Amino acid sequence: MSDTEYCYHCGTRHPRTEMRQIETKAGKRWRCIKSIEATKRSTAERDTFGKRVSAENKAGAQSKARLMLNSNR
Ligand SMILES: [Zn+2]
Repeated sequence: MSDTEYCYHCGTRHPRTEMRQIETKAGKRWRCIKSIEATKRSTAERDTFGKRVSAENKAGAQSKARLMLNSNR
């Protein structure tokens, strides 16, 4: 009868086929694949963004250092 489970992430029930049972500190809980994937994706995007920003900062610092060297000549 009940083929849905309570999704602790969304606070609603989803069909069990769209969910994963995962271990948490509080025990086994159900979470929908959609929310798991969304979290995974946003984490990956954050990582990519962070890497790009730090690369740009590095490049900026290097060109600034170059400018200072040039002005000393
Ligand atoms: Zn959910």
